[in-house]
Amino acid sequence: MKELLIATKNKGKVRELADLLKPNGITVLSLLDLPKAPKIVEDGNTFRANAAKKAVTLALFSGRPTMGEDSGLEVDALGGRPGVYSARYSGEDATDEKNNDKLLQELSGISEEKRTARYRSAIAFADPSGLIDVVEGSCEGVISTEKRGANGFGYDPLFLIPSYQKTFGELPLEVKQTLSHRAQAFRRFLVLLERYLVQTS
Ligand code: IMP
Repeated sequence: MKELLIATKNKGKVRELADLLKPNGITVLSLLDLPKAPKIVEDGNTFRANAAKKAVTLALFSGRPTMGEDSGLEVDALGGRPGVYSARYSGEDATDEKNNDKLLQELSGISEEKRTARYRSAIAFADPSGLIDVVEGSCEGVISTEKRGANGFGYDPLFLIPSYQKTFGELPLEVKQTLSHRAQAFRRFLVLLERYLVQTS
């Protein structure tokens, strides 16, 4: 297998996952390359369920081994919200900017010690015969009181890594790729992928 479909249209995720897959010599396709792919309704209660639905549906549609990733932000002071609703936190016409503004507003007046949060990522791997497995990763942080930096995407300008005292918006991609929830899940996914490559070669 030299082609892997990543079941997402999110350019930020495609960029990060394609970068992580580069050393394996695998060509990455995404839903940006398959405009006729069915739209997946992300109606699961967990990142795992949504990731599995994306991978299985798109593997069947495309006839290719497929990775489905679902991720989001859990903020402790908000009881774990926005969670699986992270992309749509500020409503149907949500943008990264509106989501970040809503988060700042919901956390206004909350002290730094209580602004703890984590990103979570679930990566599901499927091929046209069905789901192979799902793996997860997480990354702890603190929600900053102001947006900082233009790197990354989504909530990155607000997601502060305490050991660096910088947000993912400020840190270079190379650093995010060693720490992030997606990178952690990805390392576990690589074990599945390597096993699959051996079994199907
Ligand atoms: P999904 O496409 O439903 O998995 O949407 C995940 C959403 O979670 C994104 O649109 C972002 O709002 C947020 N998110 C997930 N991973 C990251 C990240 O690495 N940085 C910033 N935001 C993220």
